[in-house]
Amino acid sequence: MGYTLSEWALARLDNDSIVAAATEHEIYAALGMDWMPPELRENLGEIEAAARHALPRLIEQKDLRGDLHMHTNATDGHNTIREMADAALACGYQYIAITDHSKNLAMTNGLDEKRALEHMQRIREVDRQMEGRIRVFTGIEVDILADGALDLDDDVLAQMEIVIASVHTRFEQSREEMTARVLRAIENPYVRILGHPTGRLLLRREPFALDLGAVLRRAAELGVAVEHNAAPERLDLSDRDLRLAKELGCRIVIDTDSHESRNLGRMEYGIRQLRRAWLEPADVLNTLGAGELLAALRPRP
Ligand SMILES: [Zn+2]
Ligand SMILES: [Zn+2]
Repeated sequence: MGYTLSEWALARLDNDSIVAAATEHEIYAALGMDWMPPELRENLGEIEAAARHALPRLIEQKDLRGDLHMHTNATDGHNTIREMADAALACGYQYIAITDHSKNLAMTNGLDEKRALEHMQRIREVDRQMEGRIRVFTGIEVDILADGALDLDDDVLAQMEIVIASVHTRFEQSREEMTARVLRAIENPYVRILGHPTGRLLLRREPFALDLGAVLRRAAELGVAVEHNAAPERLDLSDRDLRLAKELGCRIVIDTDSHESRNLGRMEYGIRQLRRAWLEPADVLNTLGAGELLAALRPRP
């Protein structure tokens, strides 16, 4: 183009006159390119996309309509259902799901079948109290047991609107065992979301051995959504894994896994990861309204 680009300016080669220097936007525009959000600057095709004017419209916090994973003081959370609902309303959300732990996680006071059903009634009661200002979905984060069976009876899961299945124990299994375990779990027709699919805890625990590609492919076929967990110690799926999930046609949700109401604000950390993965609002189910979201999740038998 007859220009030279340095840290000072975009300038003409022949006479050094400045073409653009004030802002990044100005420089990219002079080069015939769109401005690239910093999260995309990984040399993964963003330069070509900017030149073709085909960059994604990256997801933002304001696109989200709700949070689908949180705990209360019935298990290892700190707040009541009502307190979580009020806090979510203050975040501007249209819905939340209350998804406490199941009995296998005894140290969290996980719910057995009887308590899970009682808890569900309390969630419904709070949903009624909120009088339509926010929907409070019934839900559970059910443990995936070592053999891939789920920790609660199907007839209990069948009554919950949001069933998240997660691995919380026996991380040391071989890649074959873990892959078979997770695949078996998502075959259960009541599972709508696979929680923190690789189990990593940043700076504390590596992801467990898993054929993630096989799991994501099957999840896509079954219509099971995969979670991006915005808790800053998890951020799982990673940005690379999220790109793969999108490529394979998986439904994706983002949530905070909050254990206290003030953690609902952690969504921003997860949003940054989704942006690194090039995700747009249409790639993420909880940008939908409450009714559309339920319709877009895996249909219940
Ligand atoms: Zn969990
Ligand atoms: Zn959780």
